[in-house]
Amino acid sequence: MFVDMMFPGYQGLAAGPGLSRARQQYEQESCADRAAFGENDPRTQLSKHNLAEALTDSDPAEAERLHRELLAFRERAFGPENTRTAITLNSLGSLCRKRGALEEAEALLRRALAVREAAPGEAFDAAVTRDELACVLQAAGRKDEARAVRLRAGTQGLICSHAPCSKTAGQAGAPLKECARCHAIWYCSPACQRADWTANHRAVCCP
Ligand SMILES: [Zn+2]
Ligand SMILES: [Zn+2]
Repeated sequence: MFVDMMFPGYQGLAAGPGLSRARQQYEQESCADRAAFGENDPRTQLSKHNLAEALTDSDPAEAERLHRELLAFRERAFGPENTRTAITLNSLGSLCRKRGALEEAEALLRRALAVREAAPGEAFDAAVTRDELACVLQAAGRKDEARAVRLRAGTQGLICSHAPCSKTAGQAGAPLKECARCHAIWYCSPACQRADWTANHRAVCCP
């Protein structure tokens, strides 16, 4: 059994020397695993996942290519309804959303969500995917659907939509507050709302 998040620290790395080091490290690891275990070994595929995640911001096209290879592998190795397959569906859906491929993003994220909502112990990951899917819907001007998706598991199933935060109400110690304009997105604090407004939400709030 392996887990996907065994290398904490690559997430949220800003561009710069730290990111180059992380990328180098994952590239070396990925090559070494391929040489040692072969392309189709889960260990090789795991280091490919870590490399793809490390490249998400700096080289999204390469990250997407790696995630597509991973998706084919995981569907074959684990099945289409496995939670590890859902991790890749979620990552790929997010990359598609960021480059404006909203239809494909929606299809991928709906698949990820169905798996995560059905699996025990995946409540937080399901909330992350609901948030991602809602961002796709809102970008497509479907804000009522975005609201419904975020609320699908009730207010306890919401997370703060400022991505680096992602706190649940339980973690924030208070109910999350919705955007007063669109009523389709929630935050844990005014600081998170301001940061996300500038970075993302302003463009899609009320088209
Ligand atoms: Zn927050
Ligand atoms: Zn709004």
